[in-house]
Amino acid sequence: MKVDMDKLVSLCKRRGFIFQSSEIYGGLSACWDYGPLGVELKRNIKEMWWRDMVRERDDMVGLDSSVLMHRAVWSASGHEEGFSDPLMECKACHQRWRADDTKDSRCPDCGGELTEPRMFNLMFKTFFGPVEEEAAAIYLRPETAQGIFVNFANVVDTSRKKLPFGIAQIGKAFRNEITTGNFIFRCREFEMMEIEFFVKPDTAGEWFSYWLEERQNWYIKLGINKENLRLHQHGEDELAHYARVCYDIDYLFPMGWSELEGIADRGDFDLAQHAKHSGKDLSYFDPDSGERFLPYVIEPSAGVDRAALAFLVDAYDEEPDKNEIRVLLRLHPDLAPVKVAVLPLSRNESLVPMARDVYAAVRKCFTTQYDDAQSIGRRYRRQDEIGTPLAVTIDFQSLEDSQVTIRERDSMKQIRVPVAELTRTLELKLSGEPLEVLPPGGKYWLGFEG
Ligand code: ATP
Repeated sequence: MKVDMDKLVSLCKRRGFIFQSSEIYGGLSACWDYGPLGVELKRNIKEMWWRDMVRERDDMVGLDSSVLMHRAVWSASGHEEGFSDPLMECKACHQRWRADDTKDSRCPDCGGELTEPRMFNLMFKTFFGPVEEEAAAIYLRPETAQGIFVNFANVVDTSRKKLPFGIAQIGKAFRNEITTGNFIFRCREFEMMEIEFFVKPDTAGEWFSYWLEERQNWYIKLGINKENLRLHQHGEDELAHYARVCYDIDYLFPMGWSELEGIADRGDFDLAQHAKHSGKDLSYFDPDSGERFLPYVIEPSAGVDRAALAFLVDAYDEEPDKNEIRVLLRLHPDLAPVKVAVLPLSRNESLVPMARDVYAAVRKCFTTQYDDAQSIGRRYRRQDEIGTPLAVTIDFQSLEDSQVTIRERDSMKQIRVPVAELTRTLELKLSGEPLEVLPPGGKYWLGFEG
């Protein structure tokens, strides 16, 4: 089902995924704080990206460049000149709008007349060092990509990588967006996961298609419904100043189809600009052909926050449950903030030592929550709502036969397994083994849903 944004925002706040920044002071718009569950979700997204894009590939290395860079970087890259959006101001209520978000030169809020658009640079400016003067002005990076380009020669010299290869980076970026809203879709401070993939110029087309496919498959592998993804090719008027070709991977967000990730063929624009402005040779020597040239670059550029929003929207579901509604997040186990809940059937003292032992063993292997407050049914629902894939229940019979129940979030089916087999079984189920496959001594179970 498609959840509306208000419902999702409310769940995220209520359950500790995402809070408004500086909330107790009235909030800071388009800045968000990730709470105890949100931080786990976000870390998992980044971890999976790093696993799939860097660790498991031979043709990728990582980087962590600084947020603050020499001002010349942004002059060479064209950001000082061109990283701007057209801004229009309402003559009646003085709200400012991005021209793309308005129709017929009228204020979307009060219908007032808008001024002519003027270009507004989206980079945040601050001062470097103790003197607040223009000569000390510096920018917070609006993308992580430039940190990669200016380190291209360092990486080539030290990593012994040959073309084609990529440099990947995850980090914060800042954009003084004109129009914000739609929860974490458009923030002024956000995180990016970017790859600059360097290739021989005559292979750029093939690699572009490869990354378009690869990146869509990554979202699908982690649970996004294929039907909710589509490609959008940028027309001439939409292309950024550096791009030869650009596609967006759009996702069907609650407010409609919008960009989730951008894939651009940047040609040799960035390396050529930095070579020219820095005076350093950034060409690549190809040992196979004996030629020296500037590689072309294919850039898959994704936002962590937008990905988090897409994963949450896609996972949200509601089902009738007796006289109530069961709300659940069908998050992929790799992304779920909590993997396993350990739930003693009741707070009866005799159950506590065994439940605590099970908790101690399980938490060593997986992010785990222990919960003994309220009825078992209520506790299952609480875990469903935060997307916990598996719950382990310890009951009175467990004390006799050293067996516990594993209950699956999506199907609500249960199996009974010996404690000795528990962590191994949980690991297999979290990696996709069907619940019905039983470990030695395991059996199906008609358990307690409360
Ligand atoms: P938009 O058109 O939505 O402003 P963009 O085309 O400027 O996005 P890119 O520069 O291609 O975005 O950035 C790459 C990715 O970074 C986007 O696909 C998105 O996932 C993420 N991103 C960009 N701007 C923001 C933002 N203000 N808040 C959250 N994520 C963002």
